[in-house]
Amino acid sequence: MMTMLPLVAVTTGLSRAELLTVLAGIVGLLVIAGWYLLKKAILTPPQPDPWDETIAAEIEKPEATPLCHHCLHPHSGATDFCSDCGTPVGQYTNWLPFPQLFSIGHVLRTGTSGEFKRTPVTILGFMLFSLAEYTLFAPIYWVIFLRKLSNQQLPKKPSLDSAPAQQP
Ligand SMILES: [Zn+2]
Repeated sequence: MMTMLPLVAVTTGLSRAELLTVLAGIVGLLVIAGWYLLKKAILTPPQPDPWDETIAAEIEKPEATPLCHHCLHPHSGATDFCSDCGTPVGQYTNWLPFPQLFSIGHVLRTGTSGEFKRTPVTILGFMLFSLAEYTLFAPIYWVIFLRKLSNQQLPKKPSLDSAPAQQP
């Protein structure tokens, strides 16, 4: 870093002292931002579970049926993908090389289906993720993604009443 200072000084026309001041300012801002993030992460109290101790104990039982986190469809603990909506539900699905490919496909299909929580972060995330996956062909994905995004209204949140009945 310090060896690059003369080169930066030549290209920007600033003296070495001015460059060090700018560098110290940037480092200072990064330290302050890091401190605030750390303080927020440590001092924010954890959110309580939205359910009572009885339900928490039921969830922890070994015979409890796992549910898909996307559509609440029950599935066996050994499956990798929800049989109803295709969401990866296995504990290690995203870590295994072959099932991971289908998981990536599911994420990209979710983007073009328009059925996701629309925030600037998720929209930017889909754009960057598709760029990482498709590289040169990413603009084709972006056209489909943005067309669906502009055509469709916000998806309705699934209510507990419309969840499928639990199978024995
Ligand atoms: Zn599902």
